[in-house]
Amino acid sequence: MAIQTVGIIGAGTMGNGIAQACAVSGIDVVMVDISEAAVQKGLATVAGSLDRLIKKEKISEADKSAALARIKTSTSYDDLKSAQLVIEAATENYELKVKILKQLDTLLAQDVIVATNTSSISITQLAAATQRADKFIGMHFFNPVPMMALVEIIRGLQTSDATHDAVKALSEKLGKSPITVKNAPGFVVNRILVPMINEAFQVLSEGTASAEDIDAGMKLGCNQPIGPLALADMIGLDVCLAVMEVYLKEFGDSKYRPCFLLREMVAAGRLGRKTGQGVYTY
Ligand code: NAD
Repeated sequence: MAIQTVGIIGAGTMGNGIAQACAVSGIDVVMVDISEAAVQKGLATVAGSLDRLIKKEKISEADKSAALARIKTSTSYDDLKSAQLVIEAATENYELKVKILKQLDTLLAQDVIVATNTSSISITQLAAATQRADKFIGMHFFNPVPMMALVEIIRGLQTSDATHDAVKALSEKLGKSPITVKNAPGFVVNRILVPMINEAFQVLSEGTASAEDIDAGMKLGCNQPIGPLALADMIGLDVCLAVMEVYLKEFGDSKYRPCFLLREMVAAGRLGRKTGQGVYTY
C-alpha cells in the first residue's frame, strides 16, 4: 500500500520533526495534539526549522511554503481518518499510549498501519493492546528528526512482512536510512549507547581519568562527535539512569547495574544541561 498521508499524534519535539521530514518529502501530514496551543507550537517549530534550511540554502522559500501547506493540524483524532499510516509520538507513558491506540482502533480502517515512536516501551506489548498486531510496528526516529538519518524499524512478534516493507519504503522516501530491529529493550542504538555512557561514569568514578580526558579519548580515539559524558549531560542523567534500570530489570543481568556515581549525581539534582549542571557546568 502506497502511503500518501501520514497521521502524527503529538506535535512535540519528535512529532513536529517527523511532520517536517514527511512534508518536505511530499507526504501529506495530519498532526494532532491535545490543544490548539500545542499544535501551533509544533507548527511554528517546523516553520523555524525550515527558515534555517533556507538560510543555509538547502531549500527555497517556495519549498518551505509547499511543505507547510502539506501539514494539516488538528485537535481531533477524527481528522486522522485520511491517513494510511498513523505514527504515535505522544508523551512517553505506557497507559497514555495504550489509551491512544485503543482510540485509534475504533477510528481507523483495518488496513491502516499504526506505528509508535516510543524509546523504551515494548512494541510487542503495545501491539497486544491493539486489534491490529500485524499492522503495528515501531518507528524510532532520532532527535532532531530532520537532521538524523537513522530510523530503527522495530518488528513486534506479530508484525507482518507487508507492514515492515511499507514502513521501510516510507522511511526511505523520507531520505532516511532505516535499520530493521527485533523488539528488545533499548532496540539497538540505545542498548549499546547507554551502557557505554554508564561505563564512562564508572571510569570517572574510579579516578582513572578526568571527565575532559575521558571525553577527549572517546572523541579522538573512536571518532565520536561528542564524548559520552558530555552526551549524558545532553540526554539528561536521570534519563540515562532510568534506561539502565530498565535494562537491569528486563535482562536480569548485573552488567546493566547503573554506576553509583550516576545515581549520586541524579540524587543531587545534577541532571545535565537542563539543570545547568551535570558532569560539566553550563
Ligand atoms: P514531547 O513532550 O516533546 O511531546 C509530546 C507531545 O505529545 C506533547 O505535545 C503532548 O501535548 C502530546 N500529547 C500528550 N498526550 C496526547 C494525546 N492523548 N494525544 C495527542 N497528543 C498528546 O515528547 P517527545 O520528546 O516528542 O517524545 C515523544 C515520543 O518520542 C516519546 O514516546 C519518546 O520516548 C519518543 N522519542 C523521543 C526522543 C527525544 O529525543 N525526545 C527520541 C526518540 C523517541
